[in-house]
Amino acid sequence: MKLKQPIYEIENISVDNNELIVNETVFHNANGYIGVRSNYEEGYPEDFDTIRGSYINGFYDIADMRQAESLYGLVEDKQTMLNIADTQMIHLILDGERFSLFEGTVLHSKRWLDMEQGITGRSIVWCSPSGKQVEIVIKRMTSFHQLSLFTIEYAVKALNFSGKIEFCSYHIGEVFNYSDENDPRVAKESGRYLIPSMAIIEEGASYLTSNTSKSGLSVCTGVKHILSQNASINTTSFEHSAITKIETLIQENETITLTKYTVFSDSIRQQDCMAHAKVELEKALAVPLEAFYEAQRTYLKDYWENCLLEIKGDDDLTEAVNYNMYQLIQSVGKDEYCNITAKGLSGEGYEGHYFWDTEMYIEPFFNLTEPSITKNLIGFRYNTMEQARENAKLLGHKKGVLYPWRTIMGKECSGFFPSGTAGYHINGDIAYSVISYYLATKDLDFIADKGAEIIFETARLWMDVGNYYKDSFRINEVTGPDEYTCMVNNNYYTNVSAQFNLQWAAKFYELLKAAKKLAPVMERIGLSEFEITEFKHAAACMYLPYDETLKINPQDDSFLAKKVWDIENTPKENFPLLLHYHPLHLYRHQVCKQADTVLAHFIFEDAQSMNTIRNSYAYYEKVTTHDSSLSTCIFSIMASKLGLEDKAYDYFGDSAKLDLFNTHKNTKDGIHTANMGGNFMAIVYGFAGLRIKESGIYFAPAIPKLWDEYRFQINYEDSQIKVEVKAKETIYTLVKGSSKQLYVYGDCYELKTVLIVPNKQSC
Ligand code: BGC
Repeated sequence: MKLKQPIYEIENISVDNNELIVNETVFHNANGYIGVRSNYEEGYPEDFDTIRGSYINGFYDIADMRQAESLYGLVEDKQTMLNIADTQMIHLILDGERFSLFEGTVLHSKRWLDMEQGITGRSIVWCSPSGKQVEIVIKRMTSFHQLSLFTIEYAVKALNFSGKIEFCSYHIGEVFNYSDENDPRVAKESGRYLIPSMAIIEEGASYLTSNTSKSGLSVCTGVKHILSQNASINTTSFEHSAITKIETLIQENETITLTKYTVFSDSIRQQDCMAHAKVELEKALAVPLEAFYEAQRTYLKDYWENCLLEIKGDDDLTEAVNYNMYQLIQSVGKDEYCNITAKGLSGEGYEGHYFWDTEMYIEPFFNLTEPSITKNLIGFRYNTMEQARENAKLLGHKKGVLYPWRTIMGKECSGFFPSGTAGYHINGDIAYSVISYYLATKDLDFIADKGAEIIFETARLWMDVGNYYKDSFRINEVTGPDEYTCMVNNNYYTNVSAQFNLQWAAKFYELLKAAKKLAPVMERIGLSEFEITEFKHAAACMYLPYDETLKINPQDDSFLAKKVWDIENTPKENFPLLLHYHPLHLYRHQVCKQADTVLAHFIFEDAQSMNTIRNSYAYYEKVTTHDSSLSTCIFSIMASKLGLEDKAYDYFGDSAKLDLFNTHKNTKDGIHTANMGGNFMAIVYGFAGLRIKESGIYFAPAIPKLWDEYRFQINYEDSQIKVEVKAKETIYTLVKGSSKQLYVYGDCYELKTVLIVPNKQSC
């Protein structure tokens, strides 16, 4: 498929520091294994604020997180994603004058991200202080074909002179992480986590290895340069780093290209990462760079083919939505050693941690477009079950597993438990993701292998944390999705997701039994039939708070008894509230950081009547600040469900442009991957009304007034279905696979090849 807006581009690059630091994120390169921020090869002035970074998904050290009071079980250390060796720096010197955007005259400049080619680039026409003009084109790629590989292709054309040019290219081993002691969303301080251990030069390549200070891991980077013409390339090492110098002559109108290859290897995945880096570098150099560009195009062609999404009538939004989907494939881990971090591999916000964002915002996208990725993501949770079991024990539970609120290798990393570890809904979220994967694929083998164990063990945890009171099953002292309301009894979202988890534990038990696939998992975890009966009973008795006067589901037992926060009269500069008010002050008010009950009403819509859902939406909308990037997409989906056309559209627009317009003012710390998945959901689940349930697949399409048409494609079971929503009708096409029954506005149809159904309402 050809993308309508494949290139996101900025003409005339500004040298404003605030813009550049955001664009380091926006134009970063990543492939799910490595990520490199878009720092300039030539560097910046000394007082410039920049976050230089290259990261490996899942590669971490352990950092101290001392608690002021050592209460039992509080987390005293955390995993933190590390900044790996810096291989971005290349100085270009023209007869003694060093190229910099901050000196001389920039005659023309632009930077771009090409989402079909999978590369980012900059092109600059520069005039040096003495008048030498050059055209520089720099292209960067993190290869989807060879995940270890990052390349910089640096082409220089002499426009009005002939003379000496020199490249000085660096490979720096001593690097640090970024920190900001005033922002709780990034690390408070940066220790010396990565300790350089060896630097060698071999056959013109430099290899640097480093060991982590505490986690016992090591990493190696290998770098080699190739020049488009003959010249001596001289690489030497110094202080855990290497420098490569190349001097040559350039003629007027001639172009000289330097290609810098970097490979990354880490000891989580490889036994000997230096040896592995050598193999990877050799592999990369064995074919021309063009072959990697070709492989990159092919990979992305398949990707876009699977997740076709186009909005006709609004090119800006199409571009923003494509950008978001591109970031998802760049960010998501491609093996079971890692997952998808809240900020992808684009920055150090949230220290590279994995949250519930994965299960509730990102897997729904991959379930529909590339379910094998969801399988990996669930596989990661499966592989970290032992740590989740230990976590449950630490928290006093006698059985089951409790997944960490935030983590890299499976151990809890949240230092502030009220809005961290207390978020027990993470268990329900992970269970929900397993169930959703199953409903979209019907892959019962995976459930037998891994999924059921997660479902049974998380169900066990609910039995241990909850208790019966007045004949109903209650869950006390937890935090729901809204982090401005912590440590409450019977958070509606938590209870309804626990109920779903328990119900599905019983369902999977029956399904696996019927398929004769039950025995191995029962044996592995010693599950008894009696426990299944207990699960069913607790689910049936689950207490779901309901307020008779307002006819809504209160967020929890005490929410409605609190003072309402005056959002309207809160100064604009005091948002996000978390940076300006003490947590206790926030907790005492009715004020929500993000969708909570409203999210529950989206994913468990059959648990309540349409009236309750409508009333709840109206109620929570007034008390929600959307300080979290996980919120507006959900409000958009629910506004669509309720036929609130303009609201659905506005919330969708806010979420689509969040990173491209830096609306949350922290894109410099990384992209917001959950929002990106949520943005896709706002179209597919929101405007098109998709739901996948046990009883089948449902649509209820509507089209925003400003659009002529939108279309997308999804996988469902063994089929692929294209959906084209036009002004008056929607066309469903079976792209491949067997015919399917679809429910459209509640009516059942058979999709054999093409089905056309008139639209009911226009949104
Ligand atoms: C949100 C959480 C989210 C985390 C990481 C926080 O601001 O409140 O729900 O998991 O960011 O994205």
